[in-house]
Amino acid sequence: MKVEGQCHCGQVTFEAEIDPGAVRICHCTDCQTMSGSAYRVTVAAPAATFVMRSGQPKIYIKIAESGNQRAHAFCGNCGAQIYSAAPQDPQVYAVRVGTLKQRRELPPQNQIWYRSALPWAADLRQLPHAERQT
Ligand SMILES: [Zn+2]
Ligand SMILES: [Zn+2]
Repeated sequence: MKVEGQCHCGQVTFEAEIDPGAVRICHCTDCQTMSGSAYRVTVAAPAATFVMRSGQPKIYIKIAESGNQRAHAFCGNCGAQIYSAAPQDPQVYAVRVGTLKQRRELPPQNQIWYRSALPWAADLRQLPHAERQT
């Protein structure tokens, strides 16, 4: 499926081909901290299909306990997260689903790092809700 993505301010835009069956939620603590939220929703796009249309994201290199490095791309102007990938010669871009125009059609299919999932994030349906800001 072809998808189009854009950061919040519109400087960074891209396109990619993704498998809607590969959309997943990551509950790892890095995703919580970097997103500033409970979890992150990501889908893998083969590098050959990922095309940056405008802008140049800023890269933050995260070093894991294992010593592995991961490049996290975000808009240097508005801060929106775009993808993560291997720092050199990436084969896959883990695209942040919230930046995709087609995100409503991309429900997550599985969840990883569930051991660090925030217990209150699993089911929000019973919480009081408003259609807009209150
Ligand atoms: Zn931006
Ligand atoms: Zn994660």
